[in-house]
Amino acid sequence: MNVMTAVRAASSSKAAEHFDVLIVGAGISGIGSAYHLTQQLPDKSFVILESQESFGGTWLTHKYPGIRSDSDLHTFGYRFKPWVGPPIATSEEIKSYMGEVMAENGLGKHIRYKHRIERASWSSATNLWIIEAVRTDSGEPVSFTANFLWMCQGYYRHSQGYTPQWPDMDRFEGRIVHPQLWPEDIELAGKKVVVIGSGATAATLIPAIAGECAHVTMLQRSPTYFRVGRNAIELAETLRQLQVKEEWIHEIVRRKILFEQDAFTRRCLAEPEQVKKELISQITAVLGPDYDVEKHFTPKYRPWRQRIAFVPDADLFLGIKSGRASVVTDEIDRFTEKGILLKSGDELPADIVVTATGFDLCVLGDIDFSIDGKPLNFGDTVTYRGMMFTGVPNMVWVFGYFRASWTLRTDLVADFVCRMLAHMKEKGAGKVVAALRPEDHNMPLLSWIDPENFNPGYMMRNMNLLPKRGDKPEWQHSQDYWAEKDEIPAIDLDDAAFVYD
Ligand SMILES: Cc1cc2nc3c(=O)[nH]c(=O)nc-3n(C[C@H](O)[C@H](O)[C@H](O)COP(=O)(O)OP(=O)(O)OC[C@H]3O[C@@H](n4cnc5c(N)ncnc54)[C@H](O)[C@@H]3O)c2cc1C
Repeated sequence: MNVMTAVRAASSSKAAEHFDVLIVGAGISGIGSAYHLTQQLPDKSFVILESQESFGGTWLTHKYPGIRSDSDLHTFGYRFKPWVGPPIATSEEIKSYMGEVMAENGLGKHIRYKHRIERASWSSATNLWIIEAVRTDSGEPVSFTANFLWMCQGYYRHSQGYTPQWPDMDRFEGRIVHPQLWPEDIELAGKKVVVIGSGATAATLIPAIAGECAHVTMLQRSPTYFRVGRNAIELAETLRQLQVKEEWIHEIVRRKILFEQDAFTRRCLAEPEQVKKELISQITAVLGPDYDVEKHFTPKYRPWRQRIAFVPDADLFLGIKSGRASVVTDEIDRFTEKGILLKSGDELPADIVVTATGFDLCVLGDIDFSIDGKPLNFGDTVTYRGMMFTGVPNMVWVFGYFRASWTLRTDLVADFVCRMLAHMKEKGAGKVVAALRPEDHNMPLLSWIDPENFNPGYMMRNMNLLPKRGDKPEWQHSQDYWAEKDEIPAIDLDDAAFVYD
């Protein structure tokens, strides 16, 4: 008997617990969704299943030195809970904020930790999801039934990061580590460290370890955009001096940030060359005119095609200026015993190589989904606004924004789910499923995101696994908070795109 068969056999012998709503994941989305559910539909029973030993999701998994947000916490924080610290926060600060939300709203008792969901099967006979999970501590199978599945499992695999395979990695005599699985026992003192990558993780890790190791080199194939600024928001500081209530400060500062981000995004599209010049000049201002900013910090793509990492207080660039950190822009030919041989012929000596090379995309939590006994391939479905999927009943996925804080969408999607659940009750419906309307049948079906618009590596590597998008606003995740903040609350729940039963 294989593991899955055993799990199913065992779980079928034990009564499944039932909840109106089952939330997958206790990250910032799962906790936020649970909050909204308790506020908007207090009569619904619900449970949160989380495979890890605690809450936090991304902020629990990542433990590398310096781990911090790259968006501000006024907008990465929930709309209902003021953020009172500096805008860029450490993972500890984010977890403590989430902990307060849980304590203030009695959410902890609803969470079952160390419960990894392996299988979700929809039955149209009962209008229920049957959820089969495994307790990660004991291996015990547990099962649940739920009317509605609220997927807050994020978008990447928490158990491993993405490490490309380069020739001769096994010959390297030092240690290779991925930031997602940062080892507790790693000794950096006196070591030569090479960090492969140029994204937010590399930009965070490098200044955090530069003071400890002998030298740290950022090895990048091509440059990335960065924004430099103070880790403070002047308006928040002024309002605080004026003793304005934190609730008001949170709301005012959120509005200011969102207004400025909208203006910045528009400028990126309207005058990309000017924005590029401004971003790069911030770096030149720190590194000085003699530094080769053209080679190391001038990307080939338009600003905003990939997320722009924020460098608070210019710490990455100050590390480079001090000589404790440096940047090499080149390609890896192969690993050697003592380091990395580059395509240019240079060799980079290393005791430790950190592969800050990104995530492994994971569509819907690596859960085996089936609908009435038929295995479900999400790549065959079409998404309704990046939240629901054609042919998948009673299920919503919280997939946030890349160009704005993820959590802005957690709040919006939660309002939608609560409105939808209330509407179903009103109609006496046990099932809702997104379906293409007659006018949508000839619509071209495209990849989940438009690579011309946004093209991070982990998405491009696995786009075929993600649901399809249409060419109308209803059938895509627009990644546009500024449009969705008005569109999502205005969705007509009696539109023919929703079929009730
Ligand atoms: C290092 C890093 C920094 C980031 N910084 C920012 C930022 O500053 N701003 C921003 O907007 N975004 C940022 N992001 C993106 C970030 O992932 C999201 O913003 C947000 O934290 C995602 O929250 P989530 O709750 O949706 O998912 P996650 O944080 O991924 O949490 C999902 C949870 O679901 C659980 N889970 C998954 N599958 C299963 C299963 N089968 N059974 C049970 N449990 C399961 C996981 O264990 C996890 O705890 C960052 C990402 C990373 C990796």
